[in-house]
Amino acid sequence: MINVFSIDVEEYFHPTEVQPFTSPGQWEHYPSRVPGQIGRILDLLDAKQVKATFFVLGWVAERQPAAIRAIRAAGHEIGCHSYAHRLVYQMTPAEFREDTRRAVAAIEDACGITATAYRAPSYSITRQSLWALDILASCGFTHDSSIYPIAHDRYGIPGFGRHAQVLPTASGPILEVPVATAALWNGAVAPVGGGAYLRLLPYRYTAAGIRRINRAERQPACVYFHPWEIDCGQPRLAEGRISHLRTYGGVSGMLGKLERLLSDFRFSTLQQVHALPGSLSAPGATPALVA
Ligand SMILES: [Zn+2]
Repeated sequence: MINVFSIDVEEYFHPTEVQPFTSPGQWEHYPSRVPGQIGRILDLLDAKQVKATFFVLGWVAERQPAAIRAIRAAGHEIGCHSYAHRLVYQMTPAEFREDTRRAVAAIEDACGITATAYRAPSYSITRQSLWALDILASCGFTHDSSIYPIAHDRYGIPGFGRHAQVLPTASGPILEVPVATAALWNGAVAPVGGGAYLRLLPYRYTAAGIRRINRAERQPACVYFHPWEIDCGQPRLAEGRISHLRTYGGVSGMLGKLERLLSDFRFSTLQQVHALPGSLSAPGATPALVA
């Protein structure tokens, strides 16, 4: 079973958890950490002979094009992580369309790739912002990985399908690939595929979750993390006990855990693992499955 390995490429001042302690006006003044972090991740992936999907923030593509070109040159997939890391459910559809258009253009300018896979900042495609899928399809996206089928204080659609499925929109179908979760005996759904869980919990938590999805459910798992999650030298902007822990806890052990994950499981890119069904490539094709 081949799983999806994905990285959301953003600076340490972009996470939603950190944004209350800074502002977009200050972003230009912080030193960039992305090039060094990406270099380490590319080395790790090269050593393990794994290709991954990098969802790139347009703001970063504009300022660090060499790092994005290095990702492409190493043969990885380039996806889109929005332009300015704004939560989808806090934007109007018109604002979301403009943010997406700007991100796609910035990524094209940086590396010549037109992204067709999207991941929203903080999984912010929720029940109230499902309209975003239609806009993504109309912008040429064939894949989305922005829905977390769990209950969480900031994101998630509890009860949403836990595995990849084709969703119909007015602008055509889009293949939704949720992040890995575990269905518990009591009906609850626990998150598995997030970088924070790998960082903060023992390695066996993530490993057991992926194994269960692969073996018991015969499905691929989708995991993700952020470049700043491996960087002990990043400036620590988040304040408060909870935010500090969520953002910086376990950073020093993260690279070792990722290395172990890449040794214990097989991984590839989103579009390799979830190729678009042939029936959807045909003009006028109708979606095979509905949410
Ligand atoms: Zn993000």
